[in-house]
Amino acid sequence: MVTVNGRSYAAPRSPLVVLCIDGCEPDYLTCAMEAGAMPYLHATLGRGTWALANCVIPSFTNPNNLSIVTGAPPSVHGICGNYFYDPHAGVEVMMNDPKYLRAETILARFADQGAAVAVVTAKDKLRRLLGHEMKGACFSAETADADVLELVGLPRPSVYSAALSEFVFAAGVKLLATSRPDIMYLSTTDYVQHKHAPGAAAANDFYRMLDGYLRRLDAAGAVIALTADHGMNAKTDAAGRPNVIYLQDLLDGWLGAGRARVILPITDPYVVHHGALGSFATVYLPDGTGVDDIVTRLAARPGMELVIDGAAGCRRFELPADRMGDIIVISARDSVLGTSAARHDLTGLDAPLRSHGGLSEQRVPIVLNRPTRLDAGAHLRNFDVFDVALNRLA
Ligand code: ZN
Ligand code: ZN
Repeated sequence: MVTVNGRSYAAPRSPLVVLCIDGCEPDYLTCAMEAGAMPYLHATLGRGTWALANCVIPSFTNPNNLSIVTGAPPSVHGICGNYFYDPHAGVEVMMNDPKYLRAETILARFADQGAAVAVVTAKDKLRRLLGHEMKGACFSAETADADVLELVGLPRPSVYSAALSEFVFAAGVKLLATSRPDIMYLSTTDYVQHKHAPGAAAANDFYRMLDGYLRRLDAAGAVIALTADHGMNAKTDAAGRPNVIYLQDLLDGWLGAGRARVILPITDPYVVHHGALGSFATVYLPDGTGVDDIVTRLAARPGMELVIDGAAGCRRFELPADRMGDIIVISARDSVLGTSAARHDLTGLDAPLRSHGGLSEQRVPIVLNRPTRLDAGAHLRNFDVFDVALNRLA
């Protein structure tokens, strides 16, 4: 038994593999099963567990992966985006560095207690956060070295490919066969989900590939617990053009150029597939600006789901107040938020925009290949997945 961030976890009796499938809206699984692309999962659900859970807001990759491995919301672990504004230093910075992490991970604590633990990620940006102070194997597909390439037996994939995620699953199967970790955490990339809707042929191909690896993990005796960091929705109008609300342009018009600062926490070095457009933003206002007035004016714009002052938003969504601005803005299901039109390069979008970040991408699956004792009517979060897999197996 270990206790981390106020929650206790029983040691696994069989190897546990937790998979975070990036951008896995539950419909991807149901559509793939209906199309016959996931025969293993379909057959397994009769004896396993299928539940829906909420992810943390903002529904982005880093906050949710860190919530899953800490069992706690961003107010505890501190990671509330890929990118944030540090008002003390006066700079906008990536939040990939473990120095921003404020909590211990379940993985590191189990490793300290002598469990064999392994982490494999698609992109390297997550690896350092997930593996922080953790003894054990920890590598990314993106920067796989010669030893990892030999272990996995696949070439190093392109960072923009379905193969980047396949490499993660293949590594998991090989690690289970060779070093048999007690706990493995596998985290993919949402390259496919940004491009293809649930049920599309390319999406079903991805999930067919996943299904084959799940079958192999199961055959090797693993308890499999699959969840997602967030969902994914189309963010386009009837003509397929992105529905973008350019917040910086609006605020510049109201307050003067450059006086407000719009932060898009989706921002990262890999923006080709979403143009740095997501459904969550936070705004820093110049001193003396009436927050309530700007909240009211933004909320009146079409395409908004929620505009709320920063303090109230941090309480509601369990976010670190020192890393959020004066206002939190969440756009509706079919809309995204940008800074200025001139600052978003959409030429790399070779498919109609699909993205995430808002309340409309909060629903994610929790799927296990084992029956569990879940409380009826329980409001699960994706970061309950270790609790479910370690404490609630039937
Ligand atoms: Zn993600
Ligand atoms: Zn994404």
